[in-house]
Amino acid sequence: MQAKTVVVKLGTSVITGGSQFLNRAHMVELVRQCAELKQRGYHLVLVSSGAIAAGREQLGHPSLPKSMATKQLLAAVGQSHLIQVWESLFSIYNLKIGQMLLTRADLEDRERFLNARDTINTLVEHNIIPIVNENDAVATTEIKVGDNDNLSALVGILCGADTLVLLTDQPGLFTADPRNNPDAKLIREVSTIDETLIKIAGGSGTTLGTGGMATKLQAADIARRSGIEVIIAAGSADNVILESVSSSPCGTRFLPLPESLENRKRWILAGPAASGDIVIDDGAVNALQRKGSSLLAKGVTEVNGEFARGEVARIVNQSGTLIAKGLVKYSSEDMIQIQGMHSKEIGEVLGHDYGSEIIHRDDLVMMQD
Ligand code: GLU
Repeated sequence: MQAKTVVVKLGTSVITGGSQFLNRAHMVELVRQCAELKQRGYHLVLVSSGAIAAGREQLGHPSLPKSMATKQLLAAVGQSHLIQVWESLFSIYNLKIGQMLLTRADLEDRERFLNARDTINTLVEHNIIPIVNENDAVATTEIKVGDNDNLSALVGILCGADTLVLLTDQPGLFTADPRNNPDAKLIREVSTIDETLIKIAGGSGTTLGTGGMATKLQAADIARRSGIEVIIAAGSADNVILESVSSSPCGTRFLPLPESLENRKRWILAGPAASGDIVIDDGAVNALQRKGSSLLAKGVTEVNGEFARGEVARIVNQSGTLIAKGLVKYSSEDMIQIQGMHSKEIGEVLGHDYGSEIIHRDDLVMMQD
């Protein structure tokens, strides 16, 4: 049987234990669990935050102006320090690690995405544990994934993971904010990510937002559509990494969708950031959802944002709910001119014609369960 692959994402709060320093005692405990998981035959990939915290530690907590450049300075110093600490801890168990620093720009282009996939898989095949982080020292806002939750979902897709474990300072996702609601209960299992759940996680900026549950939910959604089981749990829970591969893991478990996306669609979902929204009418929603059709210009009522041909856009219904994501065949500029029109009119209006569909079915990822 093929070895299962587990991606473990360690948040800064897990690595520092909420302090101003890397908590080596806790890091070594996590490494012990990783080593045991490897011993049991699992493949393992880590996504480690904490570069900036490590930078502050290494420089003795300097008081620096709050700017992008100083953040990048801290990341540059901290990333090498962080990886050295991981290296020394994993060497206790004779395990080798390899550092991979990514940004969204590395995943946006399909070819670069495939290159990154080859690297991570080659490391894994050679029994080396990849330790991934965002390349914070050079990444600007435009090319950033932005948070390591989403990054770890992308990494899960890259390495074809079976399980993604998001370790944080909370025991999982609760029915309400446990800090101010004593009745809040831990949600053990999630099979559908709906509006209520998004609200609970702080998607609307109401609860738990600072705990980072909103980005965890986004990551869980991307991963489960790609056939990856996701667990959100406390990094400090006993044997949390080992438990995550058991039949009853601690924390909140998100079940993968029964029909996971094919590889190219996983990349569409996870690689490129969407540059704009295409609003469609109810007839088009129905055609996409029920008939498996491509998107035609006729169903488009509005175009927001700017995108070029070949970029990814979000397709939303009249009330703004996300229906799908897809690679567009026409730029936003073209689309504004042809919205609502019959496919036959496209050539005449634009003076060029890239085909009757504005997003082909093969380039469309449905976002409803
Ligand atoms: N890449 C950041 C760091 O290493 C962490 C980002 C995150 O935790 O989401 O400090």
